[in-house]
Amino acid sequence: MVNDYKSENDQIIMRQDNRLIVPDQPTIPYIEGDGIGADIWRAAKSVLNHAVEKAYHGKRAIRWKEVLAGEKAVKLLGTGLPDETLQAFRTYLVGMKGPMGTPVGGGARSLNVALRKELDLYVCQRPVRWFKGLPAPVIHPEYVDMVIFRENTEDVYAGIEFELGSDDNSRFSDLLRENFPSQFAKVRFPNTTSFGIKPISNEGSSRLVISAIRWALQNRRKSVTLMHKGNIMKFTEGGFRKWGYAAAEAAFGDRVFTQMQWERIKTDQGEDAANQAKQAALSAGKMFVRDMIADAVFEAVLTRPQEFDVIATPNLNGDYLSDALAAQVGGVGIAPGANLNDDTGAAVFEATHGTAPLFANTNKANPSSLILSGEMMLRYLGWQEAADLVIRGLEGALAARTVTFDIHRLIPDATLVSTDGFGEAMIKAM
Ligand code: NAD
Repeated sequence: MVNDYKSENDQIIMRQDNRLIVPDQPTIPYIEGDGIGADIWRAAKSVLNHAVEKAYHGKRAIRWKEVLAGEKAVKLLGTGLPDETLQAFRTYLVGMKGPMGTPVGGGARSLNVALRKELDLYVCQRPVRWFKGLPAPVIHPEYVDMVIFRENTEDVYAGIEFELGSDDNSRFSDLLRENFPSQFAKVRFPNTTSFGIKPISNEGSSRLVISAIRWALQNRRKSVTLMHKGNIMKFTEGGFRKWGYAAAEAAFGDRVFTQMQWERIKTDQGEDAANQAKQAALSAGKMFVRDMIADAVFEAVLTRPQEFDVIATPNLNGDYLSDALAAQVGGVGIAPGANLNDDTGAAVFEATHGTAPLFANTNKANPSSLILSGEMMLRYLGWQEAADLVIRGLEGALAARTVTFDIHRLIPDATLVSTDGFGEAMIKAM
């Protein structure tokens, strides 16, 4: 996706042929975030700047541009997500963010979700892998090397909900009773129910699955699993599966073999023929695309993680799975993420954890998630050398047994360091 053509100024742009054009000194807007945001940003900026400087000796550099969102924006500008912030992400195409708090129950909707929607960042990409030296609750954490592609704009996160007691809820309840009586009859306690809608579309599912397969092929991964709950939610999650397979076969028919193809051959010609066709396709270098029910995925990623590679899934499943997998390899303090739009090139890289309010401004939090999100960004820009240095720094810091408190709780004989101290240990190890 990246080439060496230089754009004139400090803006990253996407060419019509989907190539990203990255100047040597791009401006990268970033949101510091709430809670531990200020602490982890201090460490992250110094680690990322050091990696870029060490890799390119001044030829390349990031021009960081702080933009406001969350509590800081509310305090200074009276709004959680100012237009200037959205405009900066649109102008510069690639940015980063720290965590932002979201109220549970009533109140404002999530700023994180609003940002993803405004920029149509429909892919939430979350790689999960283990680094030597991290404590893990499983015997073989090194078997975990997966990349989750979570749909980011639909599903229950679209936020269509009606609160019990509100006019909207009554009107929605009436509409359901009058127009869909057999569906309404399934509601167990109709007078005390809040309603929610789960929209999942063919377009939304297809573009997410296409992104996941494209990335898997580009990165020579061995399989893509469509994770869904289509046995219960037949037309939403089941639709994701059906449309996902159709998109896979239409867009990559010459490069993938799907479980759906296997089923069709089995029905027409029997199981032996289906197995032979699959074997022939895989021997010819095609990648396997299969599907699995969400609950079975949770069991299988724990007991046989080596059988999973890229996982594409609707929003809520992906939310649960990414934290569960992160726990398998050392916790949310170390799990990075990116929100992307494959068509426009827009990308916002972010720590997957929240604001950890108990640890705000204590200089204790683990900055690894944000730093590894920055590492993903460097690779996205095509700055592989700097990204490799970040990984080397993390591996070195862990090999020296320097850890922040979240990891120290699990390996108390390691050396406990602050957020800043961990950044310094990484820089020392680069
Ligand atoms: P959280 O991720 O903030 O915290 C969960 C647990 O992990 C806590 O024990 C916390 O102390 C710990 N933790 C998180 N990050 C850590 C780090 N870097 N180092 C060490 N320990 C860390 O989740 P929560 O408590 O459920 O949510 C707090 C707030 O964050 C909520 O308002 C929530 O909506 C928001 N949130 C934001 C994002 C985001 O910005 N993308 C994601 C998740 C939650």
